[in-house]
Amino acid sequence: MQLLRLELRGFKSFADKTIVKFSPGMTAIVGPNGSGKSNITDAMRWVLGESNVRNLRGQRSEDVIFAGTEKRKPVSTAEVTLVFDNSDGQLPVERAEVAVTRRLYRTGESEFFINKQACRLKDIHLLLADTGLGKDSMAIIGQNRVDAILNSKPEERRLIFEEVAGIARFKLNKEEALRRIGTTTRNMERVADLMANLS
Ligand code: ATP
Repeated sequence: MQLLRLELRGFKSFADKTIVKFSPGMTAIVGPNGSGKSNITDAMRWVLGESNVRNLRGQRSEDVIFAGTEKRKPVSTAEVTLVFDNSDGQLPVERAEVAVTRRLYRTGESEFFINKQACRLKDIHLLLADTGLGKDSMAIIGQNRVDAILNSKPEERRLIFEEVAGIARFKLNKEEALRRIGTTTRNMERVADLMANLS
């Protein structure tokens, strides 16, 4: 599954519609400091469902909307679309191209689309589950993450490897199952107490 293009409009420094095409092979984005290179990876994280705006280097959710410059007024909407080549059918959608879109209005209202059909954020998470492209995946590694990995303790590094190997999801499932077993055990103890009182 290959990334085909990223379309931005009104996202951070990209006031106008901008299309970044990813041809087969390696794509490098170069530019002077502050020209918006990291904003491109922020846009990818955002459209993939990142909900913690601090991970996008902002304070409030509307910080992703173009805030204006001396020469240009702010805009009211940020929209990002990421288009995947799905000719190998890895994504569970019967289309050769899959477009995931996220839109945020300054009013705080947000919208999500898969191939232009309105959907929930959860649907985007489900679409990308097991592809290695979820918002917490290692597909996008920011500069600060590289430092964190290099400086991490062995136990912390193990967690990173577990996440990459896909074990983290099973650990989460196990914790959830143990919590449910605990609740069920307590409920059964309560039922046994009630039955003992009745007899
Ligand atoms: P460096 O090479 O220093 O890491 P960079 O090319 O990665 O820089 P970014 O950090 O992506 O640059 O972009 C920073 C620029 O984006 C700054 O000029 C900042 O003013 C601008 N910017 C960020 N958010 C917004 C916004 N909401 N509206 C307008 N401009 C924004």
